[in-house]
Amino acid sequence: MSLVVKFWGVRGSLPASMLPTGWRTHIQGLLKGFFADGHSKPSDIESYINSLALPLVGGYGTGTTCVEVNSPKTRILIDGGSGIRNFSDKVMSGHAGSLKGPFHIFMTHFHWDHLMGLPFFSPHFVPNSEIHYYGVQKDLEEVIRSVFKKPFFPVPFETLPANIHFHTLEPRKPVKMADLEITPYQLDHPDPCWGYKVTHKKLAYAHCVDTESTRVSPEELGPDHPLYQGIDLMYFDAQYTFPELAEKANWGHSAAQIGLDLAFRENIKHVLFAHHDPGATIAQIQDLKAQTTEYFQWRLEHAAESGETVPKIIWDFVHEGLEVRIG
Ligand SMILES: [Zn+2]
Ligand SMILES: [Zn+2]
Repeated sequence: MSLVVKFWGVRGSLPASMLPTGWRTHIQGLLKGFFADGHSKPSDIESYINSLALPLVGGYGTGTTCVEVNSPKTRILIDGGSGIRNFSDKVMSGHAGSLKGPFHIFMTHFHWDHLMGLPFFSPHFVPNSEIHYYGVQKDLEEVIRSVFKKPFFPVPFETLPANIHFHTLEPRKPVKMADLEITPYQLDHPDPCWGYKVTHKKLAYAHCVDTESTRVSPEELGPDHPLYQGIDLMYFDAQYTFPELAEKANWGHSAAQIGLDLAFRENIKHVLFAHHDPGATIAQIQDLKAQTTEYFQWRLEHAAESGETVPKIIWDFVHEGLEVRIG
């Protein structure tokens, strides 16, 4: 019994890398660190670099939202941002049968960063491969068809050789797929956006991107409260710093501190913060992490003083390619 969640794209709004000048400064920092650590031999380079956390070397990634959730019997994808290209490459490099799917793609909403990778998902071009799209939005099919449309993309939807199916979901009603159950809950985001609770036996993953999380209390959340209950791993929108939340009210994104508050209250064991701002450099995400650590420590101290029982929470800012096993 386990769920394996792989994060193929974790950036928000737009695919973005640091500027070349940013990478130059970053590499200078790595080299300075190498010598400051007392190394001087080329043979030490590999072990030194491998001793650092991966995002401190290679960054957090450029691709926009795409997450793969695997159970022992099936697999789903959530969203088709530009990160889906890496998943597509994995599928295409696998055995011939793996190209046919079936692929189950659950859409949260249709902002560019959540669907721009779909035309680059190669199984669309494999004869008789099977692709299923799911979404609460009534215009799911119309929108996906419009992504494959001239002059935005040279191959019209009607000519795709794959067998493509569309499934409209009922809000807050679970769908069963082999040993998975997937339930859409509404997030706080324009246009609108639906998060997913994915459960396998007693394990649960909550996909909470994109959300401003303006509703926090159980009363405010009402029928969407179960999205945060009984969760082992929560993927949470933390595009902004806490002070930025006030400046960017109604922009539809949240901050890590809000996610931690939810985790404390709901006893969520593991939280990954995501939807990194396209302008966020490695140093800026590290800074967000430092601010979050400060808040986390303050919450722990406050809880100790007031005698509150504190859950054990693991949290981090996610990087592209991270794979997490729960259960
Ligand atoms: Zn987004
Ligand atoms: Zn959005």
